[in-house]
Amino acid sequence: MYFDVLVIGAGPAGLAFSALAADIGLSVAVFDRQSKKNLADPQNDGRDIAIAVKSQTILQDMGAWDFIPDDEISPIRKATVIDGDSPFTLNFDPENTGATQLGNIVSNHLIKQALHKVAAKKTGVTIFSNADVVSLERDLQSTTLVLKDGSAFTAPLAIAADTRFSKTRRDAGIKANMHDFGHTMIVGRMRHTKPHNHIARECFRYDGGLAVLPLNNNRASVVQTFPADRASQLLSMDDQDYVRITEHRLGGLLGELECEGERIAYPLVGVYARRFYAKRFALIGDAAVGMHPVTAHGFNFGIQGIANLVHHLSNAKSRNLDIGNDAALKAYDRDHRRLTWPLYQMTEKMIGLYTTNTVPARIARKAALHAVEVLQPAKDIVMAQLTNTQLRSVLKRKFPVLPRLPRL
Ligand SMILES: Cc1cc2nc3c(=O)[nH]c(=O)nc-3n(C[C@H](O)[C@H](O)[C@H](O)COP(=O)(O)OP(=O)(O)OC[C@H]3O[C@@H](n4cnc5c(N)ncnc54)[C@H](O)[C@@H]3O)c2cc1C
Repeated sequence: MYFDVLVIGAGPAGLAFSALAADIGLSVAVFDRQSKKNLADPQNDGRDIAIAVKSQTILQDMGAWDFIPDDEISPIRKATVIDGDSPFTLNFDPENTGATQLGNIVSNHLIKQALHKVAAKKTGVTIFSNADVVSLERDLQSTTLVLKDGSAFTAPLAIAADTRFSKTRRDAGIKANMHDFGHTMIVGRMRHTKPHNHIARECFRYDGGLAVLPLNNNRASVVQTFPADRASQLLSMDDQDYVRITEHRLGGLLGELECEGERIAYPLVGVYARRFYAKRFALIGDAAVGMHPVTAHGFNFGIQGIANLVHHLSNAKSRNLDIGNDAALKAYDRDHRRLTWPLYQMTEKMIGLYTTNTVPARIARKAALHAVEVLQPAKDIVMAQLTNTQLRSVLKRKFPVLPRLPRL
């Protein structure tokens, strides 16, 4: 059976790529080690994903958004960053952009389910479940994958979407910078008595981070970061003790809390591949850039990068070029680096400051947050990115009549 592209991993990135690639006329085989049932009807993994407007537009255009129930989509009206116990806050309000919200929150398993529905319907996509990819080999003309059962598949191009710890990235000889933060993130939904007003809150505490993602019906996804050696104790303690710790850390912000569902832990490791392509091979999703979840950008970067890669492949195809040619992959590499590198670096530095409790680090982290609040242009750029508005139109709303410079 002939395929144009082999995709390793049917997570959100692999499925989104497969569906978009099929739309430009490519035949795609996507392999995942999970069962058919798990892929079609994934279990809740505790992740609530903040989706930026730009990413939502991509999901809407490909028909995935329609498969997400309306009441499972929670709007983010504003976002606030809080610096430890200080009264200072850094605020992101979409008012200046003309948008009414910064994005929406959707549970990761519903995103995966929706993308699976879209991909499975495409005639150009074949999904192989229980298909564990054990090796990858490339030559000048093609890439070959071998599955655990010994079967092999060959195509002009292979795409790795097999998590931030991608084995095929390593098989392709691509190095990656990895940063183990030594912390574990514990996620869990909670009901609360005070309204959140659909404001997302990110609190940089000195004993670990704390984020509140506002969900419909006075519920929130509460994401807490702790040193890794405390995580198992916090996971196994009973709900009442966990609620007490969380209420204390939130300082009464959401009133009384009640756990809803189980808590799930994620070790925090940031990953940035040195290159996003090699001969007849490219990395997407977390396999390319595994962001620290504090920025809520892993999925967003993934899907925006995928749309960009498919755009370059489409250009190659329309010019009758080999779709595995270096030029298309190189263009994606350049664009994806531009999109992801600044925020990846900024996050690394910020987390570094909040896990070092020396006096210079305390001064530096306060200065960093104050600088973003005071330097309005930096905020305008972030806002324009989140709301998918042109920066020019953000500035025009603030300065309807731009001052004219005198002619000399
Ligand atoms: C707690 C938490 C909160 C987050 N919140 C946000 C947020 O608010 N906003 C945001 O944008 N991002 C967020 N993210 C990031 C987001 O969840 C990820 O970026 C995204 O899920 C990555 O998708 P992926 O398809 O690249 O990888 P994955 O979801 O990891 O999927 C990889 C797939 O590859 C398969 N696989 C792996 N190896 C093989 C193999 N050898 N053979 C066959 N199959 C294989 C796996 O079975 C899996 O199905 C968060 C992450 C976490 C942990």
